[in-house]
Amino acid sequence: MRSLPIPDEDITEIYTTCISKVRNPDLKQRLSQCGDIIEEANTEYDTVARSGELHLIESGVPEGIDITNEELVKVYTSRMVPKKSPGRPYYDKIITSTPHSRCPLCGHRTVTTLDHHLPKAHYPLLSISPINLIPACKDCNTAKDDIEPNSKQEVTIHPYYDNIEKERWLKALVIDSKPVAILFFVEHPKEWDDILFERVKLHFSVLDLNTLYASHAAEELVNIQFSLLLQYEVGGSNAVKDFLEDAAESRQMVHPNSWQTALYQALAASDWFCNEGFNEL
Ligand SMILES: [Zn+2]
Repeated sequence: MRSLPIPDEDITEIYTTCISKVRNPDLKQRLSQCGDIIEEANTEYDTVARSGELHLIESGVPEGIDITNEELVKVYTSRMVPKKSPGRPYYDKIITSTPHSRCPLCGHRTVTTLDHHLPKAHYPLLSISPINLIPACKDCNTAKDDIEPNSKQEVTIHPYYDNIEKERWLKALVIDSKPVAILFFVEHPKEWDDILFERVKLHFSVLDLNTLYASHAAEELVNIQFSLLLQYEVGGSNAVKDFLEDAAESRQMVHPNSWQTALYQALAASDWFCNEGFNEL
């Protein structure tokens, strides 16, 4: 879960560009009349997202508006996503906005798509809103599916509006088993209120991040086993601990809440692992 700068593209400009090549005069006229409510929806979204209250956004299209959900969603799927569609440059700009193409939702896999933070199926007015479009990997996008938040606690973490990178919250536990198992979990930093803690836990569980991180951690352990053995032969468990602490510090300087930081800190803190556990892989 990594934060990204809020996109500064103008919603009216995006919408006007996307519908610029609609040929059907009736559809063009009805879509053109939606420009104002789309801009209003975008503004409301920006306001409530800043206080983590996206559950306050009403789904659907207001009564009296002569447009269907499907017609609005198609502005995204037919006029912003296809390679030669008029809105594609905006799509490309957002999808390439994350460092190293890393998915901000899991912090691990590669970005391949845009995720609608509030799903377009329920919030069609936000289909092309840049602040609702998050670069994401396919797995995170699929896992989030069409979830609609009904309370503040049910709003998953938003990379543009929630910066949770300052505090340490991702922790890991070494299970002294054969093979060694690593359990990842969310710890409650004292700076957070209970609602933010619940939101991060929900995010962690919806995206099944423990399974993702534990599987990569198991592979990492096998990769470093020989290095740990060399350390042990030279300086015993203290040398193993020092090696792991250095690795944790180096990773923490890059991402305090990466699975790698959590893993190395947990390994260094485990006397059992530094003494003998690293042999149990
Ligand atoms: Zn992801």
